[in-house]
Amino acid sequence: DPSGEPGGILVRASDGYAPGIAGTERINATILALVRNEELEGMLQSMQDLERTWNHKFNYPWTFFNDVPFSEEFKRKTRAATKAETRYELIPKEHWDTPSWISDDLYKESVKILEENEIQYADKISYHKMCRWNSGLFYKHPALEHVRYYWRVEPNVHFFCDIDYDVFRYMQDNNKTYGFTITLYDAPKSIPTLWPETAKFIAQHPEYLHPNNAMAWLTDAQRRPVHNEQANGYSTCHFWSNFEIGDMDFWRSQTYEDYFNHLDRAGGFFYERWGDAPVHSIALGLFEDRSKIHWFRDIGYQHIPFFNCPNSDKCKGCITGRFTDGEAWLNKEDCRPNWFKYVGMG
Ligand code: GDP
Ligand code: MN
Repeated sequence: DPSGEPGGILVRASDGYAPGIAGTERINATILALVRNEELEGMLQSMQDLERTWNHKFNYPWTFFNDVPFSEEFKRKTRAATKAETRYELIPKEHWDTPSWISDDLYKESVKILEENEIQYADKISYHKMCRWNSGLFYKHPALEHVRYYWRVEPNVHFFCDIDYDVFRYMQDNNKTYGFTITLYDAPKSIPTLWPETAKFIAQHPEYLHPNNAMAWLTDAQRRPVHNEQANGYSTCHFWSNFEIGDMDFWRSQTYEDYFNHLDRAGGFFYERWGDAPVHSIALGLFEDRSKIHWFRDIGYQHIPFFNCPNSDKCKGCITGRFTDGEAWLNKEDCRPNWFKYVGMG
């Protein structure tokens, strides 16, 4: 369905993929969530949906991360929301603290400019830290040292469709690196120097570019419906990373390590508001084989205000093909057609 309309196709049992039915052995994977104690109710909502539609059949562990210790109430209630194992992990200070080379004065100056450009959360230092941690640090947590695949889940998201196969096994058996549900355009003013820094990095390391990369997708220059501008060469189309199913071996590669360190030193996680979504997307688009990136069209998903809602009788609670329940212009933020144009169905 190259039109990119998820409603256009009837999604049958996982596109014909059968292995990994309930009861078979789990592979090396975890569901993971970075979450605050105050978001307990929202986390329970997300857990109920994912347990009901998928995980009660497979019982993958839940690993929760926080920059402060989890409360007893958080632990008790999340433990009660699954029969799978739950793990509660504190983020090491050195992974969360603002790095030493970031100047407080320059950060404060930068916030003013970001705010003039109406960039949300610019003045919330914790938001910047969160984006940096999700970009280049989560997979370095000791609790994940021996874990390979992850499914990232946020509080307050919804899952609508019964999924009867083991998605982690799907990733492994099909040699996939990354799975997504939604792609969006980003606010160019949140990442003005992300692509220029990336270009510098590629110039230093041309050997890191994958021969079957998605450069054409990243640099697509068609007139954008809403912001109508690129971010200095980057289309801003990105995998919306509040949903991610991924292979951490990619993030742990020397290539990505070097790329993240380059970006981290450049300072844009603080002086701009680089999100983990564009950072992950650019890295995948440049350094990975694009055929290893998979659209999970069959996983019905919502993070306010966007949906991935397939046409299937396995889905309940979302409207087939609907992309947003917000204002109409938000439909134009969907850039999946772009992905299908350059890469195909993945
Ligand atoms: P948005 O989706 O971009 O609006 O950002 P969110 O507020 O949903 O944050 C993204 C994810 O990071 C969510 O899972 C939050 O629970 C989590 N998060 C954000 N900031 C913090 C923080 O300071 N501490 C912790 N523990 N989690 C955070
Ligand atoms: Mn969120």
